[in-house]
This record gives sequence, structure tokens and C-alpha cells, in this order.
Amino acid sequence: MPYTPYHFGPSGLAALAFRRWIDVPVFVLANVAIDCEVILDWIFQPGWPVHQAAHFHTLIFGALFGAVYGAAMYGIRPLRLLCEWSMSWSGLPYRAIMTRMILSGILGVWAHIAVDCIHHEDVQLLWPFRLDNPVWKWMVGARLEHLHDLRNWVVTTCIACWCGMAIYYGWLVDVFSVRKQRIEAIRKARRNTVENVLANN
Ligand SMILES: [Zn+2]
Repeated sequence: MPYTPYHFGPSGLAALAFRRWIDVPVFVLANVAIDCEVILDWIFQPGWPVHQAAHFHTLIFGALFGAVYGAAMYGIRPLRLLCEWSMSWSGLPYRAIMTRMILSGILGVWAHIAVDCIHHEDVQLLWPFRLDNPVWKWMVGARLEHLHDLRNWVVTTCIACWCGMAIYYGWLVDVFSVRKQRIEAIRKARRNTVENVLANN
């Protein structure tokens, strides 16, 4: 859980880059939703590996959880309003569509697991078929020689993505505000033309 904010960097950057197909708030907030598993673990299974309490940090159950979470974000009105309000506050165009929110829930959870399975040994990516973490094992090396570097690398990449996201977001807002101003100018010019035509007649 203390690592959850790091996920906002890569998730936010990916969501903004693919915003045409991905629901940005659902994709980014999937990081918070899935890490509720860690809180469940602290409450109900203290001492147990933190990413195994409800099997949300797995490809199969993670997808199911992501689909339910995405549907809930659309179906529960205050949550949908939260998505709409946050995007209107961000200045980017947005429309809540159920299928896109469900898909974004699944992809958002998988994106989270993709980062976690590199950083945390206890993520059971292929549960129930495998109980270990083959990705972590492969990346960390046979004698754990890359353990320290691997964690540093994940954290540094997440921070770099945070910076990339901030720059990209600033650029997008600028593009959309310029586009909005142009559309308003065109509408105003059209209105003036119609008014002039009516006045001359
Ligand atoms: Zn996690």
C-alpha cells in the first residue's frame, strides 16, 4: 500500500496516451481499488503475504475484480459522477461509457500487477496454476543478485513516468484549450455572419 502512489505515474501516463480507448479515472483508480487487498490482509490475515489475501493480484482473479470494479464505477452514480467531475476539473474531454469502464478496470488492474510482480516477490501472478512469482524470480536472478537494483529500477521508472505524465498532461491541456478557443471563435464568426445576413435582409 505505501507504494500505491508510485503506480499513478505509469498508469496515468498510459491512460493519457490511450485516452481515446481507456477511461482515464477508472484506469488510474484501479491502483487504489486493487491495493485494498493489502488492507484486507492487514485486518484479516496479519502476518500473511500482503498480496495474497483475496487473489486480486493475479491475472485471472484480477481480471474478474477489475471487471466488477469497472462496472461499479459506471453503475454506482456517485462514483460515475466522481469520474466525470475529476475529468471536467482536469480540462480534458470525457464521456462515461460502461464497456470502456469495464475494460479499463481490467486493464488498470493488470497494469498494476505488471509493476507489482516485478517489485514484490509474493505476487502470485499465475495463481491457481503457480504459487510463486516467475517474473520476479527471473528478473532478480538465481542468487538474488539484482534484488536491490530491481527495486530501485521500479521506483525510478515510476518517478520518471510521474514526470512524463505531468509534462504530457500540461501539453494536452494546452492543446485542448487552444482547440476550444478556436471552436468558440469559429462559432462566434458564424453567429456574426448570420446576424449580419438577417440585419441586411
Ligand atoms: Zn498492489
